Amino acid sequence: MTDLARFAATHGIRHFLFSFCDLFGVQRAKLVPAAAAAELARSGAGFAGFAAWLDMTPADPDVLAIPDPTSLMVLPWQKEVAWVATDLQVEGVTLEQSPRRVLQRQIARAAARGLQFRSGVEAEFFLMDPEQDAIADGLDRQSKPCYDQLALMRHYPLISELLEGMERLGWGPYQADHEDANGQFELNWTYAESLLTADRHAFFRVMAAALAERHGVRVSFQPKPIPALTGNGAHLHASLWDEAGHNVFHDPTGEKGLSEVAYQFLAGLLAHAPALCALTNPVAGSYRRLARSVTSSGATWSPSWISYGGNNRTHMVRIPDDQRIELRLGDGAANPYLLQAAVLAAGLDGIERRLDPGPRSDLNTYVQAPEGAPSLPTCQADALEAFRHDGPLRDSLGEAFCTAYEALVAQRSDG
Ligand code: ADP
Ligand code: MG
Ligand code: MG
Ligand code: MG
Ligand code: MG
Repeated sequence: MTDLARFAATHGIRHFLFSFCDLFGVQRAKLVPAAAAAELARSGAGFAGFAAWLDMTPADPDVLAIPDPTSLMVLPWQKEVAWVATDLQVEGVTLEQSPRRVLQRQIARAAARGLQFRSGVEAEFFLMDPEQDAIADGLDRQSKPCYDQLALMRHYPLISELLEGMERLGWGPYQADHEDANGQFELNWTYAESLLTADRHAFFRVMAAALAERHGVRVSFQPKPIPALTGNGAHLHASLWDEAGHNVFHDPTGEKGLSEVAYQFLAGLLAHAPALCALTNPVAGSYRRLARSVTSSGATWSPSWISYGGNNRTHMVRIPDDQRIELRLGDGAANPYLLQAAVLAAGLDGIERRLDPGPRSDLNTYVQAPEGAPSLPTCQADALEAFRHDGPLRDSLGEAFCTAYEALVAQRSDG
């Protein structure tokens, strides 16, 4: 029996969702009956690449999506359906610009150094009314709404269903809260190997959207759904582990308990920050969240400067504890796979070139600019310009991906 047939038999699965995430983070899928899944897993499910954001033409041969059985997840709200991430090929050749592939290449690059990237992501979102022109809960009006217990509990039926779904999937969810904007929430699950985190992040977006609709509301992961309020971040927590299972970011003798390798990785993030924004902050609206004036709660909670601090949320990189670093740059429009891939590529470059991030800043950057720190890009065009000129980052991510991505972004802004 094949992996999918066995999974169908043991879990009572009637249909599989053969799924992939295109370059703009849209989840595409075909629904495949269990009886046909083994055959289609071999041949691949066919997609017309031009119909998704993959930078292909209508004349190109089919994209064939081959499921990766290690990614199988039963939909918690539709238990006879299992989701599976696929890897994309065209005429037997891997589609190098596929976001999951871009991440896999960075993972292989880390593995060649004996390192595994483990990451956690915070996928903030708004709950909006069905028209998506206002937040769903008209009573959610505090000027400092973060952690608002009443507003959190008004959405208990949806939030608890999401937490229980993640529990059933084995993600280790550990908290949910009302975030800093009216109508904004965050659910946290435990960090894992980065491909697993990316698959979960992609799945979480679908699960949250599907369940929200069932509860009569809509989710928005957009970077700045409501101009006056705090935007949706997608912070990424990162650490690297060796083959013996030790966290090589931790060093009790290092500054803030972090190792030289951790600081080199961090320095890579700082060095590539302007270009990283093209992927971590991928839409025009991303720049209404970054580097902006205060929101109605008193702070944007997003960075303006390319700087790092200790346990200080005003910097682009925060050191929450002696095990990891947190990149606070990314937003809810970031592609789950490209977010991880870009961070890993930049961090590995920092390690390879033994970069030094310089001293940390303990300033409140919302009041005072950290000395000598460059500003982050203030518009998408500046981020794309930096991306165009960042040779080392492009080499790591692969020119096929970079040019495909740029072509699509140009196409989208034309349209
Ligand atoms: P905060 O809001 O303080 O930034 P959260 O608790 O919302 O943090 O999210 C923290 C994320 O970091 C979680 O996904 C958590 O599992 C993850 N994390 C914790 N330790 C590590 C680590 N060593 N490496 C990578 N991620 C980690
Ligand atoms: Mg057809
Ligand atoms: Mg959080
Ligand atoms: Mg948050
Ligand atoms: Mg955070």
